[in-house]
Amino acid sequence: EQTSRICVGCGSELQSVDETQPGFVPSSAQDKPNVLCRRCFRIRNYGEFMPVAVSDADYQAQVAQIFDHPGLVLYVVDVFDLSGSLVPNLARFVMNSDVVVIVNKVDLLPKGVHYEGLREWIREQVQSTKVNVEDVMFVSAATKEGMDGVIERVIDEVSRPIYVVGMANTGKSTLLNAIASRFEMGKAPYTVSRRPGTTLRLSRLNLEGPRGMLQFVDTPGLIHGTRVIDRLCADCLSLVVPDTRIRPRVYQLNPGQTIFLGGIARLDFESGLRQGIVLYVSNQLPIHRTKLERADDIWRDHQDDILQVPCEACRASFGSFKPHRIQSRRARERVPNGTIAVSGRGRDIVIPGLGWITLSGTAFQGQLWLPSWLDPAFRPRLV
Ligand code: GDP
Repeated sequence: EQTSRICVGCGSELQSVDETQPGFVPSSAQDKPNVLCRRCFRIRNYGEFMPVAVSDADYQAQVAQIFDHPGLVLYVVDVFDLSGSLVPNLARFVMNSDVVVIVNKVDLLPKGVHYEGLREWIREQVQSTKVNVEDVMFVSAATKEGMDGVIERVIDEVSRPIYVVGMANTGKSTLLNAIASRFEMGKAPYTVSRRPGTTLRLSRLNLEGPRGMLQFVDTPGLIHGTRVIDRLCADCLSLVVPDTRIRPRVYQLNPGQTIFLGGIARLDFESGLRQGIVLYVSNQLPIHRTKLERADDIWRDHQDDILQVPCEACRASFGSFKPHRIQSRRARERVPNGTIAVSGRGRDIVIPGLGWITLSGTAFQGQLWLPSWLDPAFRPRLV
């Protein structure tokens, strides 16, 4: 009889062509009996989830399974890149499930963040994509902060699947590992359950909880192409993506000055009143302040020595930049009940994937330059 060409762990068709795709196994292992794909092998042996990237069409086909078998959806988003974390077209697949938004990487947030304000803002952003949000939870899958709440929420879900959904790099794998480690209780932790011969490429993970078996379903992470992290090399990323808690950087800015956030964002202060602005970005990101009239020269001639990021190679994929008008007076926006009072406190200009800039709320007219594929968002001030 012919050897099965299917991973005995997850049921994916085995292949040795593309290691980012499901079912990858080194060709040397292909012909052995009872082969596990590399991902299942690592889960079994090292307790580790590997991110798998898939195409858009493949992805849609896979998440369609959620509609057919509704359950609880843990929708993982990156607190530093909310817009880059929103999964396209998710709404129609999860309309009959319960969705809890898991806001990951809060270990990076500065001290003093107004979590209720952040929660409301995130809820609004996600609901604007027509996804009905049951709850918003803050966690750090890395430091395990907030994990108690997640465990508490999933523990009774013994009769329906629990899906973990999110864009690539939001921390889905880290979260699943953090969940799994809570249930392992000292013994051989978890197994990847077998799927019946299959076109369905979701990996399942059964965990024995105190109130019964929990069936987690890991969905692959999509890649946008319109996120800062999708456009930068590892060296550039080490300057841009925060890896430790952000320390706010305060600048007293005069009209007629420009501030560069590396070479990724540029804020021109054209007119208004002298004010303190605060940058909440990676502690490694080079910040450069200059006169507005010098800014074009710096932009053109000092990308590599002063601005540093993106590097020459990454600049090619960044393309052109686009200005966004920024005007602020004492804020008059009305906010829903229970969220933060914005009046006179200024607001945050959010740059997805990079962080945010807080304007004081006094008069400011100017513009913010960003890569043309990246749009800023505004929200009531968080800190
Ligand atoms: P996935 O692609 O969604 O499965 O994401 P991963 O779990 O592979 O994580 C993506 C990146 O984010 C990795 O570099 C992780 O180390 C990092 N990461 C994940 N969770 C956290 C977290 O809670 N805090 C921090 N600071 N980094 C995290």
